[in-house]
Amino acid sequence: MQTDKDTKNTGKIRRVSGPLVEAEGLRAPQMYEVVKVGNEGLLGEIIALSKDFVSVQVYEDTAGISPGEPVHGTGETMSVELGPGLLESIYDGVERPLKLIEEKSGSFFIARGIEAEGISRAKKWLFKPKKKVGDNVVSGDVLGEVQETTLINHKIMVPPELSGVLKVIVPVKECTVEEVVAVLTDSYGQDHEIKMLSRWPIRKPRPKQEKIFPDTPLVTGIRVIDSFFPIAKGGVAAIPGPFGSGKTVAQQSIAKYCDAEVIVYVGCGERGNEMTEVLSEFPHLEDPNTGEPLLKRTILIANTSNMPVAAREASVYTAITIAEYYRDMGYSVALMADSTSRWAEAMREISGRMEEMPGEEGYPAYLSSRTAEFYERAGLVKCLGEGDRIGALTVIGAVSPPGGDLSEPVSQATLRVVKCFWGLDAGLAYKKHFPSINWLNSYSLYTVNIENSWRTNVAQDYPEVRAKAMNLLQDEAKLLEIVRLVGMESLSNEERLILEISKSIREDFLFQNAFDKEDAYTSPKKQYGILKSILSVFDAGKKAVSVEDFDFKNFLETKAVKELPSLKTFPADDLDKFGQFCERAEAEIAALK
Ligand code: ADP
Repeated sequence: MQTDKDTKNTGKIRRVSGPLVEAEGLRAPQMYEVVKVGNEGLLGEIIALSKDFVSVQVYEDTAGISPGEPVHGTGETMSVELGPGLLESIYDGVERPLKLIEEKSGSFFIARGIEAEGISRAKKWLFKPKKKVGDNVVSGDVLGEVQETTLINHKIMVPPELSGVLKVIVPVKECTVEEVVAVLTDSYGQDHEIKMLSRWPIRKPRPKQEKIFPDTPLVTGIRVIDSFFPIAKGGVAAIPGPFGSGKTVAQQSIAKYCDAEVIVYVGCGERGNEMTEVLSEFPHLEDPNTGEPLLKRTILIANTSNMPVAAREASVYTAITIAEYYRDMGYSVALMADSTSRWAEAMREISGRMEEMPGEEGYPAYLSSRTAEFYERAGLVKCLGEGDRIGALTVIGAVSPPGGDLSEPVSQATLRVVKCFWGLDAGLAYKKHFPSINWLNSYSLYTVNIENSWRTNVAQDYPEVRAKAMNLLQDEAKLLEIVRLVGMESLSNEERLILEISKSIREDFLFQNAFDKEDAYTSPKKQYGILKSILSVFDAGKKAVSVEDFDFKNFLETKAVKELPSLKTFPADDLDKFGQFCERAEAEIAALK
């Protein structure tokens, strides 16, 4: 995030309170204007205007800054730089490349007042025009393309709120992001230069034509998510869970394997070592679909718990603005935020220092509206410009409620706006059942939207198979209650069968090891295959065990039952193999006496 220092508009600090600085004497300050604070020129943003002073949240450590030091207004709102070169980058919360600030500070400890451009000014990109001089163009039209990475073709678009006739467009040419690639004359006869580099204020959603109904699943390869609680491309989901329940592992697994084209991962206020894992692991990961390094479709934003709290507040906006930019090109983008609770805590800290009236548990009264505004930026959209491009922005936010108590304000504010809830359960995590998504209290409101997609792309009866499996798990919960009260002996054979099959659904289907190369990702067809096979054993078993005096042990001894745990090792997408299993199982169980 780069701004030119405007020394003409200078005020001075009148109070410093942690990351919050009050300044007076600035001429015509604006909300969300970027200011440079103190002798070191720390990056700050005006977040409240009062009669005689402004409140500035400072994105760097304010220790040692004192009243009387200067504050420079820049006249610009807090914005991110957009253009080729974003992918493969690792940024801090205000879009400074971590590598660059490390080099400039000369150590791992980030020095203050460092300015680092989000996008390289030196690098040249091969610009390929898609329009010609004299063409009429409107906002969002694609002027040209740049192969940003082997996976992503970056589209250079007419910026929002601009339209006219192309006066100049460069031919196929190596350009830096600051070179003019096109000139457009608007209806007033005024010329506008367009470069590959543009800026967008982080707190303002980027415009689109309209939102459309999300009806395609975002395939994550995580069985409990895809089959039981699916999320649509353009949907919003929350992963709440106490410490250690698997939020980070789940988010990272989705970031690695989901079928979005671009991933923006923001580590917000998480422990530094967790983020280090991401930063050191990601560059070596391969995209399972293309074999290319995963980083080629990824942007990482790292804002760990030891970095300044205000930058944490900004990091989610930086992330979602970058995500929207790729959505506007017509890509399916997935944004992972880990954790939004730390973001809300940053908001609470700043609000407290501003002495605002606190709401529940000290969070500001606007916590709900801010949370809603953030998730509202997700969606499946018709992009601006020609060609009916469809872009998707899926947002998945982790929430870490203290003690796992979901009645706390951040969880409540989040649950009001998300349509998909993957409730992580400390009990399951303790028993090492991962992902510890509780199948009894999680939900997805997208199931109905994507039913058609399932039927056409996976199997005609996938929704029914899923419903049947979920019903069995609910029946299991009731039966386990009975067992707890009166013991196993009181159960009929049919009831024991339900327990046995539910156990298989839990252990052979829902349990998934994110660290096992083979198990970490399961294609939708294979997910269906496993579930269908388990249920075929159930159906066959139901007939067999209803015979009078049937010895349940015989059922447990069948090859089919013993083979259930190996279903997940069957080759992906080979539905025939699952079909053969079902036939074998049915024949074997039907022959039981
Ligand atoms: P949180 O972010 O909720 O504090 P983590 O995501 O760091 O929790 O998970 C804690 C630990 O649980 C991990 O270090 C890992 O050992 C285990 N774990 C979580 N999810 C899985 C999974 N899907 N497969 C295997 N182990 C897991």
